[in-house]
Amino acid sequence: MNSKQRLEIFERLSVAIPNPSTELKHSSTFELLIAVILSAQSTDKGVNIATDKLFAVANTPEKILELGLEGLEQYIRTIGLYHAKAKNILATCQMLITQHQSQVPDTRIALEALPGVGRKTANVILNTAFGQPTIAVDTHIFRIGNRVGLAPGKTPLAVELKLMKAVPKEFMQDAHHLLILHGRYTCIARQPKCGECVIRDLCEYKAKAA
Ligand code: SF4
Repeated sequence: MNSKQRLEIFERLSVAIPNPSTELKHSSTFELLIAVILSAQSTDKGVNIATDKLFAVANTPEKILELGLEGLEQYIRTIGLYHAKAKNILATCQMLITQHQSQVPDTRIALEALPGVGRKTANVILNTAFGQPTIAVDTHIFRIGNRVGLAPGKTPLAVELKLMKAVPKEFMQDAHHLLILHGRYTCIARQPKCGECVIRDLCEYKAKAA
């Protein structure tokens, strides 16, 4: 796949998906951070249901700490791995208070030092909250990178590093959400909707559906 084809792919996706952004509901960077931690191996829909109630009563590091482990778990019990996530969230809130004046830091190093925050979560925060041109490779982006031929790689990191080189400059900011939303609604895992796909003629997937 050459650079002209890659540019065409992102131009078409950006027309098909006019407002590419996260579907995790949040009204502050802190809320986004908590939602992203909760979203690991869970759906955005499930996280939104839980955070609707949680953020109504606790949407700062101090207030979440006040809930305590059992209190926090009451709100996130429907989410996979909720016990481990609750422990990480409380430890993260404590670190935000003691080391970052209760603010979410805007550097990769500081973000990845927070419990429950790995490279993928840091990339989401850097991109969505701080406008940095990062790409968090989740299951959708990993699949698309390989399936479409945009950035084939055996690991999420390999796909991420290839995408950082392959994505045209003007689409670096939006690439993350364009690819996630394309993967979530069109290029879905089991039965991609190739018949209604705007990049069908550019996609290198051999087993395209009708
Ligand atoms: S043509 Fe099919 S496999 Fe290729 S990007 Fe579109 S939906 Fe995915």
